[in-house]
Order: sequence, then structure tokens, then C-alpha cells
Amino acid sequence: MKFEDMKGVIKKGEFSVESIENLSGDYYTVKLKNDADITWVPGEHGIFTLPGKKIEGRKFRLFSVASIPEEGFILIGTRTGKEISSFKKAFLTMVPNEKVALRGPFGWFKIQDETSPIVIFAGGVGITPIRALLKQMEFNTDRPIEVVYSSSGYHLFGNEIENMVMNNPMFQLYKMASREETAVKLDELVDHYGNAAYYYNSGSPAVLRSVKKRYRKKGIKKNRIISDLLIGAK
Ligand SMILES: Cc1cc2nc3c(=O)[nH]c(=O)nc-3n(C[C@H](O)[C@H](O)[C@H](O)COP(=O)(O)OP(=O)(O)OC[C@H]3O[C@@H](n4cnc5c(N)ncnc54)[C@H](O)[C@@H]3O)c2cc1C
Repeated sequence: MKFEDMKGVIKKGEFSVESIENLSGDYYTVKLKNDADITWVPGEHGIFTLPGKKIEGRKFRLFSVASIPEEGFILIGTRTGKEISSFKKAFLTMVPNEKVALRGPFGWFKIQDETSPIVIFAGGVGITPIRALLKQMEFNTDRPIEVVYSSSGYHLFGNEIENMVMNNPMFQLYKMASREETAVKLDELVDHYGNAAYYYNSGSPAVLRSVKKRYRKKGIKKNRIISDLLIGAK
């Protein structure tokens, strides 16, 4: 982690809710207006609090920003799991124009160069920072971008990513539902690209540990693997 990656943590602002959508099951998106006109690097995350709301337990949550600055809004993707936490209950029942506070965005999960092929692994809600990376590269046709997206039920942002794939011949999307088929596809991609590619991984720590192990076993260098561990994600 470099100083540059953490610099954004000093930024603070309040943003009003534009909309909250329950897309499927326990999956939600929250769109915030960029009232404070902040900018960020795609792939970064922020620390979110809810001023004026009574919350039991931890009063903040980290969320990746799923949008890019050019879209003009701050997009969050999340799920509640079977039992909704006090924080998410307050968050996901907010109405337009209520305020959410954000510290950041900041982080290390960023595109490293302009030319290397990119292999992405997203597990479940780990797709959130990936959506931002893909949006950033939507019209970049100079390199292959392979996305292995594993989710046991609903694929958050799945349709949107499918549209990006249709518009860019260098994008490939593999929507996976099981660990086994995910492992086969990742092996195939590693065998094809080796250390020429960067490997971006986003999801729960346990899953990312096993993906990283898999890559390292196949000889991928540490500096070619960039992971965003969504600690606590469902
Ligand atoms: C860099 C980063 C980016 C993230 N991006 C997203 C995102 O885009 N979308 C999303 O849904 N979630 C994201 N998360 C996870 C998010 O911050 C919440 O932890 C998660 O959404 C669960 O919140 P909850 O309120 O539903 O459950 P919680 O009340 O937070 O509980 C979930 C479970 O995780 C455990 N847990 C929570 N935090 C930690 C921790 N820091 N260390 C160890 N155990 C912990 C709790 O003890 C509990 O068992 C991110 C986390 C990090 C670190």
C-alpha cells in the first residue's frame, strides 16, 4: 500500500440519497447524489456513517464505490444476509434527500497500467469495485479483459456488465454458479496469460485466499495479484 492509496481518507462529506433499490432477494443498490462534487479513482472504497440515525453496534460500514466519477453519482451495492444488521436496516430504509456521510474514498484496488491483459475474479458482492473498474475500461480495446464472476444466486450488476461485454470485443464475462467451474476457468486463464496479466480479485477474505493460493501455485508473481478483501461482506 502506498501513501497515495490512503490520501483520500482525509476527505469528508455528506451526500443525499437519490434512490435505493431492492434488485432481487436481499441485494440492494444505493445511489447517492455527488452533492460535494468529490472525485475518486475507480476501485476505491469509503467509510460510510448515517448522521442522526440510531444504530446498535458498529456505527460505520466500509463500501466500495461501484460507480466512476463521470457518472455523477456514488453507487453502492450490498446485501443484507438473512438477518439485517441495525446499520443496514437504517441505511436501506432511507428516503430520497436524507444524508449519508462518507470519509474517503481511498484504497489500493486500482488499474496498474494501460496495456497488460486483465483477469478479474469477483465473488458475490465483490463485484462492486469491479463494476467501477469495468466502467473505467469500457471503451478500452487495447487489451483483453476477462471477468470471472462467481455468485451462487443473483449476479449483482450482471446485466449491465453483459451490456459492456457486448459493446467491447475485448471484454469476456464468465458468470459462474459453482466453485468447481470457477476454479476450472481461473486455471484456464492463468495457463493462457501467465505473468503477462494482472489478476484482480474481489470478494470475501476466505474465497480470495484460496484464489490467490491457486494463482501462486501456478507461478503467478505476487505483484501481479491485486486483491480487495471485503472483510465482513455477506
Ligand atoms: C474494503 C472493503 C470494501 C467493502 N465493500 C463492500 C461492498 O461494496 N458491499 C458490501 O455489501 N460490503 C462491503 N464490505 C463489507 C461491509 O463493510 C460490511 O462488513 C458487510 O456489508 C456486512 O455488513 P452488515 O451490516 O450486513 O453485517 P455486520 O453487522 O457488519 O456483520 C457481518 C459479519 O461480519 C463480521 N465482521 C464485520 N466486519 C468485520 C471486520 N472488520 N473484521 C472481522 N469481522 C467482521 C461481523 O462480526 C459479522 O459476523 C466491504 C468491506 C471492506 C473491508
